[in-house]
Amino acid sequence: MLIELKNFNVYYKSNSGSVHAVRDVNLDLLENTSYGVVGESGSGKTTLFMALLRLLSKDTTINGEVIYEGSDLMKLSEDEFRKYRWKDFSVVFQEAMNFLSPVHKIGKQLVSIYTANGPSKNKKEVKEEILKAFHKVNLVDTVYNMYPHELSGGMMQRVAIASSILLNPKLLVMDEATTALDIITEGQILDEIKELEESIKMTRVMITHDVSVVSSSAERVIVMYGGLILEEGRVDEVFVKPKHPYTKLLLESYPRMNDKEKYLKSIKGSLPDLKEAYKSCVFYNRCPYRMPYCKDHEPKLISHGDRKVACFLEEGVKDE
Ligand code: SF4
Repeated sequence: MLIELKNFNVYYKSNSGSVHAVRDVNLDLLENTSYGVVGESGSGKTTLFMALLRLLSKDTTINGEVIYEGSDLMKLSEDEFRKYRWKDFSVVFQEAMNFLSPVHKIGKQLVSIYTANGPSKNKKEVKEEILKAFHKVNLVDTVYNMYPHELSGGMMQRVAIASSILLNPKLLVMDEATTALDIITEGQILDEIKELEESIKMTRVMITHDVSVVSSSAERVIVMYGGLILEEGRVDEVFVKPKHPYTKLLLESYPRMNDKEKYLKSIKGSLPDLKEAYKSCVFYNRCPYRMPYCKDHEPKLISHGDRKVACFLEEGVKDE
């Protein structure tokens, strides 16, 4: 096990009250495993992992436990947590341009990251480490002396990935990291990431709205809705035989090459109001299989072998 999240909650402040964006999540992230996290906008997928990495604004309230190497990271101060960034946990965002300064050469920026967070090495050794990271994502050495504006979107994203793996982190979170790229570049980068996982042992979490990215590049999938995990399991099992009604509908709302349907199905209704506390199933209002029992009870995420599902149907509850 790499990281264990226990009763993890995130609350945002809003003008109209507190938003309970992540609700009592329990999650075991395994070592050296690739995850895809899917769900509609507002499902809590980015919030969950940005809270774990302490990258949310200071007025966000986070509670629960994050167990890593036997310690609860939630007990650490900001300064104490900072030493885990880059070395243990790293992140790649959608817009690599925002992370790089436009006025400094790429090499200089990566040298700063390495020297501030990595082991002590001389200038030549640090450059060698950076070029090694470049090669892992198919970047040529000349990028070292280039400015960000001289790179294409795909090259920029490769620089972001190279910097994130520079110190061999144990957890890499990619937040919609390939979404802005054209489909060919996206495919190439996903292939490169899978290849580099053979040389770097790490757990990768890919947050995306695109289930095809998950099916082609992750071993396990986490399905989120209304701040909760509704289903978690192996991609080849969940995508072939989804157990939660939301997962089924989410998968049906994406196009497939061999689809005979002329039109895509949509999930009717809208996400729950996260300012409210609810005692029903979070998906009750939109669920085509709902039962009277689901209105007054909230299903827990329960293990069924290697799969976890939060639905009363899986618990054998029957319609009255
Ligand atoms: Fe639908 Fe009930 Fe299952 Fe919720 S618990 S997903 S309402 S069947």
